[in-house]
Amino acid sequence: MIPRLAEVTPVQRHYLAFIDALNAAGFEGELNPDYANRTVLATDNSIYQVLPQAVIYPRHAADLQRLTRLTAQSDWQDIVISPRGGGTGTNGQSLTDGIVVDLSRHMNRILEINAEEGWARVEGGVVKDQLNAALKPHGLFFAPELSTSNRATIGGMINTDASGQGSVLYGKTRDHVLELNTVLLDGELLSSGPVSDVDLDHLKRSPGLTGAIHRTVDDIYERRREDIEARFPPLNRCLTGYDLAHIRDDDGRFNLNNILCGSEGTLGFIAEAKLNVLRIPKTSALVNVRYDSFETSLRDAQTLMEAEPTSIETVDSRVLGLAKGDIVWNSVSEYFPTAEGEVVEGINLVEYTADTEEDLRAGVKRLTDRLDAVAGQPGKCNGYSVAWGDRAVKQIWGMRKKAVGLLGNAQDEARPVPFVEDTAVPPENLADFIMDFRAVLDREGLTYGMFGHVDAGVLHVRPALDMKDPEQIRTVRRVTDEVVKLTQHYGGLLWGEHGKGVRSEFAPEFFGDLYPELQAIKKAFDPHNQLNPGKIATTEPSIPLLAIDAVKTRGDYDRTIPVDSWQHQSEGMYCNGNGACFNYDPFDAMCPSWKGTRERKHSPKGRASLMREWIRVLGEQGHDTRTLAQAEQRRVPVLHWFPRAWNTWRRERGQYDFSNEVYESMAGCLACKSCSGSCPIKVDVPEFRAKFLHLYYGRYLRPLKDYFIGLLEFIIPVLARRPFKWVYNALLGFKPIEAFLRRIAGMVDSPRIHRRQLSAIMRQRNIEWADANMLQGLREAERKRSVVIVQDAFTSFFDTDTVGDILACLQELGFRVWVMPYRANGKPLHVHGFLKSFTWVARRRQKDFAALAASGIHLVGIDPSMTLAYRGEYKKHLDGDVAPVLLLQEFLALHKDRLADHKTALAGGDVRLLGHCTEKTNAAASMKDWETIFEALGLSLTQEAVGCCGMAGTYGHETRNVQTSATIYDLSWREKIDTLPVEQLVATGYSCRSQVKRMQGVELKHPLQYVLERIKPA
Ligand SMILES: Cc1cc2nc3c(=O)[nH]c(=O)nc-3n(C[C@H](O)[C@H](O)[C@H](O)COP(=O)(O)OP(=O)(O)OC[C@H]3O[C@@H](n4cnc5c(N)ncnc54)[C@H](O)[C@@H]3O)c2cc1C
Ligand code: SF4
Ligand code: SF4
Repeated sequence: MIPRLAEVTPVQRHYLAFIDALNAAGFEGELNPDYANRTVLATDNSIYQVLPQAVIYPRHAADLQRLTRLTAQSDWQDIVISPRGGGTGTNGQSLTDGIVVDLSRHMNRILEINAEEGWARVEGGVVKDQLNAALKPHGLFFAPELSTSNRATIGGMINTDASGQGSVLYGKTRDHVLELNTVLLDGELLSSGPVSDVDLDHLKRSPGLTGAIHRTVDDIYERRREDIEARFPPLNRCLTGYDLAHIRDDDGRFNLNNILCGSEGTLGFIAEAKLNVLRIPKTSALVNVRYDSFETSLRDAQTLMEAEPTSIETVDSRVLGLAKGDIVWNSVSEYFPTAEGEVVEGINLVEYTADTEEDLRAGVKRLTDRLDAVAGQPGKCNGYSVAWGDRAVKQIWGMRKKAVGLLGNAQDEARPVPFVEDTAVPPENLADFIMDFRAVLDREGLTYGMFGHVDAGVLHVRPALDMKDPEQIRTVRRVTDEVVKLTQHYGGLLWGEHGKGVRSEFAPEFFGDLYPELQAIKKAFDPHNQLNPGKIATTEPSIPLLAIDAVKTRGDYDRTIPVDSWQHQSEGMYCNGNGACFNYDPFDAMCPSWKGTRERKHSPKGRASLMREWIRVLGEQGHDTRTLAQAEQRRVPVLHWFPRAWNTWRRERGQYDFSNEVYESMAGCLACKSCSGSCPIKVDVPEFRAKFLHLYYGRYLRPLKDYFIGLLEFIIPVLARRPFKWVYNALLGFKPIEAFLRRIAGMVDSPRIHRRQLSAIMRQRNIEWADANMLQGLREAERKRSVVIVQDAFTSFFDTDTVGDILACLQELGFRVWVMPYRANGKPLHVHGFLKSFTWVARRRQKDFAALAASGIHLVGIDPSMTLAYRGEYKKHLDGDVAPVLLLQEFLALHKDRLADHKTALAGGDVRLLGHCTEKTNAAASMKDWETIFEALGLSLTQEAVGCCGMAGTYGHETRNVQTSATIYDLSWREKIDTLPVEQLVATGYSCRSQVKRMQGVELKHPLQYVLERIKPA
């Protein structure tokens, strides 16, 4: 049994007292000093890990004012606070051992859009893609681009002065900031923007911090103007944050925004921003140019610039290779063809945008004429492809955006890590700089992938290190020092894009004798060095800046985790915090529990962080999870009822156990598996969650509903028999039973068993049960047109008509259909952590499938999520292979020629597919199969973008999840059902169809039901 994990790292008493005082001051957001919140926000995307004392979520600027008024009081001037947005920083920018102030949860409102004047006013926690989605109907967009645009916040972007692809044309974030509303450390709300000298004089005479700040900054400008001009290199990526060179803007007006942009949360809280927004270019194209060496692609990029594109990005073969192994490749593969024997080591992605088709074609021609003239010559490209139109261009940029995350997906313990990942040098020096940079990495024997914004001279590289190995941690220092020297040699910067954070130790070197002026600015804004201290500048020379090897890394913690636990829970160990699972897009599958709660502990990253910490703490007590799990396998739960009941009773009476916090986070997971398919690192929450639950319920009693859900697959064949079926269905409609189920058993809206029996439908249609001997005895021709349907409990017993229609459709399409006698799949057992029973079931199915598959006839499942368990969950728990069980669409796509024979028999039609999350993310290629099938049949099918429906097996039926399930449904499904013609909508998942019926009373068809209807009567 797992031990109780009593208070792990207590919150400092002083901080708890501060939290109480903040509560008393009327703070309206959440105040969370719990260990789960602290653990989840102890990391960003950097190599560092710093445990905060608490995490707080302000609701509005007034909350921030309450906070800073309090921290300004003499009793609390040692309290440290750090603003946080999406937490995607790569250098520990938002990490603190004080209080994390996360603005992303509530302060995420778009306040105003003025399309005529071209600006938008937003709160600091608005995500960049969220803003662009709101601007799109006005034909506008917020231009600064970054790879993390679906989760990084405007506050974070302003504070790191973010930029990325397209920066040569559009500049950086600060180029689009019109006004900022900043909460200062004395509780004042400062509005900043360009001001006249008259207004500046007025501001300098203001009381409090506002006056001090304006006096200090203007004084620096007056005294050090010439030194400043002499110091800074003329780069696209100029020095950001405390930008002395731009205290006055190009029109000579004093503008504090240039000091604030890029200040990394060290000067104030950006509560609101007024942003400049631009017209969306009407059309775009991307030329994808292939090279046989990365160096050639880099050097050639400078020549390509002469063809005046909007932007140029370079990726190397490693990045491309990783993309090929990811879900993202399905959408872009056609643009990266390789001829026989062609070696592709580098690619330049050259973008053109324009307002007219004519201008666009002219731009692309400028480039392709040049390429055609030199293709194949030494130092030139191998060939190119052109992607026309926004959709295609976005898909390729999507692949490039995902590249950073993909670089983290190595297979061994050395994983790509950021620490010198965003250098910038003048573009003309880039190729030489990179060659020297590579020599440094090669000397250290490191592997790495590279890509970059070659037009701006920015290089992204993440060398692979095993941060658990102290020797490899020392590499960080050696390589950084060398790269700092190289950037100086080539006239560039170490932090060209992602900010300084823990790398702030190099700030004095870069700012030279101007560094004390930065300290003066810091002191004017933050007199007691409370705001994100140690970054960029400290208030006094005696207070040190953070240094790259003076902050604890995640590796320092991971090293103490027992190896057996690390391997046993490996599905969560390699999360690198890139935050792709915080995707704001409601029409994307990842991650419904995060979207439905906006709580970071209910995300894949949150769960992976808690799992790492949980096994680390267990390790401290001398336990590893593998040994604990083996012991649990041997136990008979019923014999240990008393100790578990005792522990549960103590838990209910408030006894602390960190495992309970971990449980809360795991219990909120829908087990939809979107993370395991979409996370660039393939973090698989359902897998490590199942292992956790297996152990957790060795200590505590299970809720009743778990037994019901786990057993359902086994008892359903009996329940489905008359008269049990009548009794069961009647009881479900009986109010007291319904109340019992809701309150005691924890289940709501349980579905009724279908009135028809599949065996009766099969008899009607002359369909036989599949028997291994009979199948093997079939003639070759008969085998070729045969298919064995593998049943699942949900469709066979609750949605029997749909199964009947699918069988009928397959027959109409000329297949001889067999049905495997019903057997439990085991997935519900896995979801709820009954791992011993799950493995038992899986072993039996492995044998059943092997016997049937020996005939060479395809096995095909109906429900996507249940079917994918055979190649997902089964694979992880069984030795040896499991015979493949195909999805319906995979099977039919293999027979598309046969389908074409039925084309004339079908009336044309147009259908929109609402796919199941598990299928879209774990068998992405198969979604295209539906299009292939419909096309072969002379029908047309388009994929409709939707997120999760909120049901996911039984999640939506559990009382504790009802509200979140409905919230998740409303994020994307409700609108589709409300606005699209329902008769044209089809859904593959049983869960999705039943959720739509439950939420909106609409019955959706399965795609093959739609096909069946279109088959014209002969
Ligand atoms: C995979 C990956 C790819 C990336 N690609 C790019 C890229 O292409 N271009 C790029 O520029 N960056 C990139 N980054 C870095 C990162 O995404 C950006 O720095 C982003 O702007 C950070 O935004 P955030 O909301 O996540 O901020 P956080 O990481 O939460 O915070 C960043 C800094 O801003 C401060 N801050 C946040 N909100 C506020 C606020 N409201 N008021 C005051 N201070 C605040 C924090 O204290 C911290 O110092 C990438 C990161 C990853 C993981
Ligand atoms: S779970 Fe995956 S997507 Fe989320 S932060 Fe971790 S690695 Fe990134
Ligand atoms: S399985 Fe689904 S709900 Fe659970 S963490 Fe993964 S994406 Fe989120």
